[in-house]
Amino acid sequence: MTDERDARAEVDPIRDALAAVVDRHRSNHAGAVATYIPELADVDTDGFGASVVSVHGRVHSAGDADRPFTIQSVSKPFVYALTISDLGLDEVHRHVGFEPSGEPFNAISLDPDTGRPDNPLINAGAIVTSALIDGPTVRDRFERVRSFLSACAGRELHVDDDVFESETATGDRNRALAYLANSSGVLRQSVGDATEVYFRQCSLVVTTEDLAVMGATLANGGVNPLTKRRVMSERPAMLALSIMATCGMYDHSGEWMARVGLPAKSGVGGGIVAVQPAQFGVGVYSPRLDSWGNSVRGAAVLQTLSEDFDLHVFDHPDESRSPVVSWTTEDDVTSGVLRGEFDLISAETVIDRMLAAAADGNRRIELDVTGVTRARTVATELLRVIGRHLADRGVDVVLDGDLG
Ligand code: GLN
Repeated sequence: MTDERDARAEVDPIRDALAAVVDRHRSNHAGAVATYIPELADVDTDGFGASVVSVHGRVHSAGDADRPFTIQSVSKPFVYALTISDLGLDEVHRHVGFEPSGEPFNAISLDPDTGRPDNPLINAGAIVTSALIDGPTVRDRFERVRSFLSACAGRELHVDDDVFESETATGDRNRALAYLANSSGVLRQSVGDATEVYFRQCSLVVTTEDLAVMGATLANGGVNPLTKRRVMSERPAMLALSIMATCGMYDHSGEWMARVGLPAKSGVGGGIVAVQPAQFGVGVYSPRLDSWGNSVRGAAVLQTLSEDFDLHVFDHPDESRSPVVSWTTEDDVTSGVLRGEFDLISAETVIDRMLAAAADGNRRIELDVTGVTRARTVATELLRVIGRHLADRGVDVVLDGDLG
């Protein structure tokens, strides 16, 4: 077959780079699979896969990228985003905080003053978060979670009943966390209902491709790049990424952010999702875990990718391109054409030029902003202020196009 898609798939440098990194870590057999949920111990410990999905919706995979495993805690930031979509951040924040706990994922930790769990990514916080999902019955509430996570993944996800039964049978510690949250008034459902939704959400079956698509949906401001469907608005996606950046790898989150520099979330099933905002999502899988409960080889793959390809979110970018395409003066009228993202440093450049034009005696400044793809509020506000300043001095500033 010679159609264009096949031809493109044959040459895929991103897939090849990913495969090389996976191969590099294949001989790492450190760590151990989770056994406290008996069903999780029953896996092929050598399974190892990785996928990258860009915000353009292109999928690149290496190793066991179609191997199913349970999502476990990787579900947590997505359910958090769903509750924020439903209730708004302030209401969610009355029940669960933002701060890294510095403790293991299943720690008995509630803030002594507020009674809230420290954050939505430790178990206590995730159970409280799941209990914020509304619906007449447990079944309805879980169905909302399942269909939302499915929309993020771009396909229908289903529960592994054996893992669900296994978690339910051995979940006393999680029930204890729910009872504690209930006693401090932050659990909106009964302990039984809250933990049932939580155990089911943790038992959803995914692949690394699913996790990469879910991550890419967050990277893409809430629009699934494969289905093109808006799954959530930009703000819950941004907040999910924020909490992943500060709390996603449990009590290893600080070192993770320093060394890898990608918001991420791990699960005891061996999956990790990581995101470079506006660029891509990565899903990795390998079931042997380190002492924090994070996949050993998954974390190693992400660290190597970050180091070898400069993917740290705080890596210093090149100087921003000038937003000014052209800047001309005729008689006493100056015309500027702007394009791309209009942000603080773009506004700074444009304002310098406007002030220089006014100082040269120009009476009118026309800005063609039809090519601006996104205007940050900081930039439009600065432009408004300088527009008023120039108007007071008899210089008209006229926009062609809309900055929102
Ligand atoms: N279902 C698991 C639990 O509650 C999730 C924990 C995790 O993935 N870190 O223990």
